Amino acid sequence: MAHFERKNRRPLALLLLTIVMLFGFQGLAAPVPTSSTKAPKSWRIQWQPERLVNGSPLLFEVAPPAKLTALSAKWLEHQISLSYDATRKSWFGIAGVSLETRPGNYVLELKGTTARGSEISFTRKFSVGAGKYPSVAVTVAKKFTEPSQEQLERIKQDKTVKQDVFSHTTTEREWAGKFRPPVDARISDVFGTRRTFNGKVQSMHQGLDYAVPQGTAVSAVNAGTVLLASPLYFEGNCVVLDHGQGLLTLYLHLSGLKVKAGQRVEAGEEIGVSGGTGRATGPHLHLAVRWQGVYLNPATLLSLKVP
Ligand SMILES: [Zn+2]
Repeated sequence: MAHFERKNRRPLALLLLTIVMLFGFQGLAAPVPTSSTKAPKSWRIQWQPERLVNGSPLLFEVAPPAKLTALSAKWLEHQISLSYDATRKSWFGIAGVSLETRPGNYVLELKGTTARGSEISFTRKFSVGAGKYPSVAVTVAKKFTEPSQEQLERIKQDKTVKQDVFSHTTTEREWAGKFRPPVDARISDVFGTRRTFNGKVQSMHQGLDYAVPQGTAVSAVNAGTVLLASPLYFEGNCVVLDHGQGLLTLYLHLSGLKVKAGQRVEAGEEIGVSGGTGRATGPHLHLAVRWQGVYLNPATLLSLKVP
């Protein structure tokens, strides 16, 4: 974890110093009753990545000062549900900062319910900086920048399918442990690149591209449930995985699908085969990360050090 917050760090250091002075180091080497069975005296919040920018996913680990039955948070107008991890004795929640978020300070509002039913809360300010994203010009088939009436109809249908898929997500945490790359390949385009298609349509690249030839096995970045496994106009053959806590991963332009909607998958399980279907300049894998309606940088998610 990048940051460590502890309000009583100084008194603790003084206490340790006193113990050392009274008992010497040997006294410390003996099994000293630790506070591991008790909750810390103040809220302890750790987060990744260390520096927050627009477009970045975010992992919170929260140790509250009391045993809680539930913990939720409000962050940038989003509701975050945190899940308890018994081995770490802390709560984990996935969140993010949208690309549209301006640099500035934003408040995380935590609200917990204790075993006795009372409510405790805590707020903490976080600084969000500006992410640096490149610009490129891309050439694709005309049907993707100037679709016909028939193609527009197809795009409209896809929109309904996607809205339906994105509305059926679970708040329960399904992901566990580290996020792993879906393929072992070179990155051909990063997240956030401003793109000009055929000198006309402009868009922001909302995913991470891997340079893989047609036919490469693509695997799930973490455990989850298949929300969608079917062809779409722009996306081509597409798999959407729901990892819980509002977090989805999308795998685009596949030549083949290896899973079905509703199926549970484990981290690293093969979900499809790479290709160049949909609006693609050639075979590659486009990996997208979506959290509560916001596209986030997949590279940051893959770099999180999850205990
Ligand atoms: Zn892409």
